[in-house]
Formats: sequence, C-alpha cells, structure tokens
Amino acid sequence: MLDRTTQLKSYQTYIDGRWTDAASGKTFQTFDPYTGQPWALLPECDKVDVDIAVEAAFRGFENGPWPKTTASARGKIMRRIAQLIEQHAEHLGQVEVRDNGKLISEMVAQTKYMPEWFYYYGGLADKIQGAVVAVDRPDHFNYILREPVGVCAFITPWNSPLMLTTWKLAPALAAGCTVVIKPSEYTSASLLEFMKLVIAESGLPPGVVNVVTGYGAVAGEPLVAHPKVAKVAFTGGSATGARVNELAAKTFKKVSLELGGKSPNIVFDDCIIDDAVSGAVSGIFAATGQTCIAGSRLLLQETIHDQFVEKLVGMAKTAKLGDPALTETQVGPVTTPPQYQKILSYIDIARGEGAKCVLGGGAAQKEEGGGQYFIKPTIFTGVSNRMRIAQEEVFGPVLSVIKFKDEDEAIEIANDIAYGLGAGVWTQSLKRAHTMARRIKAGTVWINTYRAVSFMMPFGGYKASGLGRENGVEAIEGYLQSKSVWINNGPGGGNPFVMKTAS
Ligand code: NAD
Repeated sequence: MLDRTTQLKSYQTYIDGRWTDAASGKTFQTFDPYTGQPWALLPECDKVDVDIAVEAAFRGFENGPWPKTTASARGKIMRRIAQLIEQHAEHLGQVEVRDNGKLISEMVAQTKYMPEWFYYYGGLADKIQGAVVAVDRPDHFNYILREPVGVCAFITPWNSPLMLTTWKLAPALAAGCTVVIKPSEYTSASLLEFMKLVIAESGLPPGVVNVVTGYGAVAGEPLVAHPKVAKVAFTGGSATGARVNELAAKTFKKVSLELGGKSPNIVFDDCIIDDAVSGAVSGIFAATGQTCIAGSRLLLQETIHDQFVEKLVGMAKTAKLGDPALTETQVGPVTTPPQYQKILSYIDIARGEGAKCVLGGGAAQKEEGGGQYFIKPTIFTGVSNRMRIAQEEVFGPVLSVIKFKDEDEAIEIANDIAYGLGAGVWTQSLKRAHTMARRIKAGTVWINTYRAVSFMMPFGGYKASGLGRENGVEAIEGYLQSKSVWINNGPGGGNPFVMKTAS
C-alpha cells in the first residue's frame, strides 16, 4: 500500500559517493500528481554542484579504482546492481507512483524488467573486443582498442524516470564510463532512492555515478556545456534536444538524443479487429498517453473506419480512471500542471480545427474517477494529417483518427510528419507487413503489437525523434571510441616529407 504521509520528506543528492545538499542550500518541492500536494524537498543544484559532480566523475574516470577495474569485474558489479533492483523493486515502483502518478501496475512491470538491462550489459562488458588488423605494410603490427568515451552526462524526462535512466546507465557502466545524471525536476525522487538502495550498495567506487537534481536551465545547461563531459545522452522533448545538441556541439561532445514522437498506428481491413482495437487503446491510453511512443495518430482503412471507431470508443470508455496506487486503475493523472494545461489546449485546438470529438474531450471530474490533473480518454475523428492535432506531440490521452484508402496513402500519411519514433501496423498479410516495415520512416515498427520494448532491441528515432540508439548490442557503441595503434617492427626511414602510404 502506498504511504501518502503528508509530512515533507527531505532528500539529499549523491555526489562522489557522499550524500549532500546543494552548495547554495536551496531546495525545491516535488509534487504527488494524484493529490496535487508537495511531498518531498530536493536539493536545487546549480553550476557549482555540477562542477563538483563532473570533477568527481572525471577523477573517477581518470584515477582511482574504476579505470583499473577489469571488464569482468565491471560485469559482476552490474549483476549485483540487477539483484539489488530485484530486492527493492516494489519500493522503487511505489516512489515513482507517488512522484510521477504512474500506475502501480505499470511500475510493477517496469521495475521487474529493469534488472535485465544490468544482466545483459553486465554480460556484454567483457565481450567488448578490439581487433588486430592485417594492415597493408610489411613488418607492422596494427590493432584497434575500444575505449570508454569518459564522463557521460545523462539528462532524463519525467515520464519514465528509472527505466529511461537504466537504458543509459547499463551500457555506460559496461563500457567503463563514469556518469553525472540530471533527472527531471518533476520526478527526481525515484532516482535518489535508486542511488541509496542500489548504487551506494553495489560496490561501485565513489564518483562513478553522481546525481545533480534541479532545473534544466540551471543544472542541465552547465552539465551539457561542461568541458570535461565527453558525451551527453538526453531524453526529452525535441525543442530541448535541439538546444542540448547545439550546446554540446560547442565542445564537440558525442551526443545521443531520444526525443518526441507522433507515431502512426495503422490498421488495415485484413487485421484481427479485436487485437487492433486493443492495440490502439494501449498505444494512446496506456501511461495516460504520456509516452514518447504513443500511437497518437490512428490511421484507419476507410472500409473498416466506422465499425472500428465504434469498437474503439466502446473499449476506451470503460477505462477506469483513479488512484494510480490501486491495481485496478487504468488511467492515472497527468504528471505535471503545465502538461495538463497543454493537453487541454490541444483539445481546444482540435475542436477549433474542425475535428469531431467522439469520446472524452476535457478534464475528468472527481465523480468520473478524476481529480486535479485528470483528462478523460479523448478520441477525435475526421482528422486530416495537416491539422496541428495530427502534427504536434500532445503527450496525453488524446487520439487523432485519420482515414486512408490503401497502402500507398497509409505510407504517405505515416511519413508526412517531422517525427519518426515508432509505428504500428495491423494486418494478417505477411507481404504487407514486410512492405510496410520497410517503407515506414521510424526507428521501431510493431506489426500486430504495440508499445513492446526489450533490452535486446535497438530503440531510437528517425528524423526529429532523435540521434543514436539505446538498447541492444548497438547501444554500447555510443559509450565507446576506437583507438588505432600502429607498431612498426621493421626499418624506419623513407622520405620524412611524404605521408607514409602503402606506396
Ligand atoms: P523536456 O525536454 O522538457 O525535459 C527533459 C529534461 O531536460 C529534463 O530533465 C529537463 O530539466 C532538462 N532540460 C530542460 N531544459 C534544458 C536545457 N536548456 N539544458 C539542459 N537540460 C534541459 O521533456 P519532458 O517534458 O521532461 O519529457 C517529455 C518529452 O520527452 C516528450 O517530448 C517525450 O516525447 C520525450 N521522451 C522521449 C523518449 C524517447 O525515448 N524518445 C522517452 C521519453 C520521453
């Protein structure tokens, strides 16, 4: 049972293996989105704290025990991290329910699955291999070293704080990097609990994982700009991602960006209708629509449009709104007040553009299971792909239904968007499934499923949805760099003014 004690809890942040307040002594409140009440105080870090944290991470990378830890030993620590998460999964999940308003059912699934990332990348740590190259010169022995990039800055959003940190932390530690994490100012508590229960107990040396809590402009910017940070891994909105990319470019940092989406969920008339209806509901109403991969554009083949909408509305209207801490709740609160206002404004925009609201369309009142920040699951039909409600990320439980005639038109609509994060396709035709998978411009295509993720499958965006990939073997590459070593075992000499080529 979730403890909703009303007395404010005070957190410190974790830098260089020690618990500390912000250097300025400032704090800020974090809110329970279900009650709308503040429940904890967090250190408001700024550039001074960022400098201390980055220096600790830099020392941790250059000196001390971490650079001397073998890859196999890194793997063992990571398996210990996985076990500690298993041990504390329930508590970590409950803190996220309190701080973020995520459903307890979703958090049980997420925290149960998170250890897999540490087992998987822990197993990969001692399989990072360089190569010997039979270079085109006599008497040479050439090889390639694979080295960690250095200090990594992670900047994460509020919607899945622990899971999205895990996607970065596991490959970074496996590669041998050190880390400074700036979580979202709306949802930092679960990360601090993770530091206390997992990282501090894992055997990681001080300075390997550090946290600076605080606001984007005050703590995030100096972290991205810091000259000793070698790589920035960012998850958040596309506009913030562009700013982070611009800042990081000034000091030539490596960057990975996981950004927004406006993913098409495409339903053909040869699909299993009930599966597709459930997939459409899951695509947009799970996690209250606050997911980057939300299937927020439902593309329906015109031959099944009316029948599908009827079934969809029938299922969506049964969604149970309420306390996210109760297992029977299916739609929880919106996490932040600005996000709540933004969703309501997009509902007005859609109406103003002439879309037809066939379900929901506003705030949910107390008697409907709602409360302060609840929005009713909302469906608009008659949407054209050029409308703002079809082009812009709402990040809430608002679905735009768009009709299409055939495969070509479905592809044209699906790809006519700035984003390219995910896409769903519902069909029983194998040929159509493969054709659509090839033609859709998105980092993930789900056929007859939606919102499935795994530590084994690369995840990331095309176009404005981002740069680089998380998860899978590929993700570890983002935390490594190659060094080419040339050893001449033969005679020196030759013309010193001419480049040494294979002649
Ligand atoms: P946001 O962009 O507002 O904030 C993300 C993080 O960036 C926060 O920690 C914030 O404090 C920080 N930040 C803000 N301004 C900054 C600056 N100038 N310099 C450095 N850091 C700064 O995003 P949000 O509202 O927290 O999250 C929602 C967005 O995240 C949505 O657009 C969603 O699609 C996206 N998202 C993407 C993925 C993905 O994997 N592609 C996953 C989850 C969320």
